[in-house]
Amino acid sequence: MISKYFIILVAMTIQLSAFAQITEKIRNEAKIQTEYSLKLCKYLHQNPELSFHEFETAKRMAAELKDAGFDVTEHFGGNSVVGVLKNGDGPVIMLRTDMDALPIQEKTGFEFASTKIAETKDGDEVAVMHACGHDIHMSTWTGTVRTLATLKDEWKGTLLVIAQQAEEFSGGAREAIDAGLFTKFPTPDYALAFHINPELESGKIGLVGGPVFAGVKTVEITVFGKGGHGAYPEKCIDPIVIASRIVLDLQTIVSREISPLEPIVVTVGSIHGGTRPNIIPNEVKMELTLRYYSDEAIKKVIAAIKRISKSAAQMAGMPDDKLPDVFVLPVETPPVLNNSELSKKIDGFASEIIGTENIVETSPAMVGEDFGKYGRTPENIPICLIWLGSTNPELMKELNAKGKKPFPLHSPNLNPDYEKTIETGIKVMVGNVIGLMRK
Ligand SMILES: [Zn+2]
Ligand SMILES: [Zn+2]
Repeated sequence: MISKYFIILVAMTIQLSAFAQITEKIRNEAKIQTEYSLKLCKYLHQNPELSFHEFETAKRMAAELKDAGFDVTEHFGGNSVVGVLKNGDGPVIMLRTDMDALPIQEKTGFEFASTKIAETKDGDEVAVMHACGHDIHMSTWTGTVRTLATLKDEWKGTLLVIAQQAEEFSGGAREAIDAGLFTKFPTPDYALAFHINPELESGKIGLVGGPVFAGVKTVEITVFGKGGHGAYPEKCIDPIVIASRIVLDLQTIVSREISPLEPIVVTVGSIHGGTRPNIIPNEVKMELTLRYYSDEAIKKVIAAIKRISKSAAQMAGMPDDKLPDVFVLPVETPPVLNNSELSKKIDGFASEIIGTENIVETSPAMVGEDFGKYGRTPENIPICLIWLGSTNPELMKELNAKGKKPFPLHSPNLNPDYEKTIETGIKVMVGNVIGLMRK
């Protein structure tokens, strides 16, 4: 009996020390790759490109993958770049990063702050900034694939990696899937991604074992009026007044028409009308973002938007053929639902790499992410999106003491703790992949 227990004990010790050796190797290699990734991140931060215009960024991602030994396919479903690295028999794991930046004028004051200007589809000039951390995603993703290529002896299987265009517009994932991501390349057994989270300290990750990101719909409202001279309002019907009324009445949808227990957001993010102080314009255009988890609730919200818009115009005396046009854009982002079994596995791997104390159970968020689409194809691939803490712990302490919060995603002041966030991301993602593909 003693010898049997002894053998089991020795076997367990060997197994543990073998894993400890791997985790040690992962941590060391991640540290080495962080230096490279940080430089890459600063370059990407200074050279942001808007959704569907990620031409130079895609070129750079393709070069990084080739350098790491991947077979690379460029211009896949637009600007997306796909890489495959086969390393014996084993599971196929997909790793995704997004590449696009936002039309925001950076205000961080960083020495590597973006000064890029781009042209929008309407011909306007806009400043561009990586204000959603996709620069960190790309450099962490690059560091992860480089580390995995170096540690090839520790895992068996196939890596399918994608640098995806147009996450912010929600077109990127759909175009990659439609172009045959899961049919032209090995079909993944699991798909993983990560997103920075300023509400978590760098060094930590956030995990959710179910719904993690909300669904997103975009609505455009065109409010018509009867234009004329600003000095003769009695001869006009002012669409600016109608639009203002609509904006205020839309606020009652969530507060008065939807259950307080149902997560919904209705935000009017853009409103444009008029050219001069003394001209009453003919129309006003508004753009809304809606966030939801339940299909039934969002249907109710859209019906209410149509009703409120129509009523406001009728109240102002607009004729039936000139009532507001409420258009729900066909491109949408469904809610992201993490696979609970995969999340549990990741919890286990990440605990070995960064310690349980650095894994935070997070609540579902109202931001959207088109990564959810990869889990909604006929292949039914289990997906998991991980939050990557990005605020320096010291800064977080200072802010907390003052009752303040870190700058959020999409803020012109977004100030992530680049180095530690990237290093943690590489460690955790490499640990997850090796955990799922261990020999
Ligand atoms: Zn974003
Ligand atoms: Zn983002």
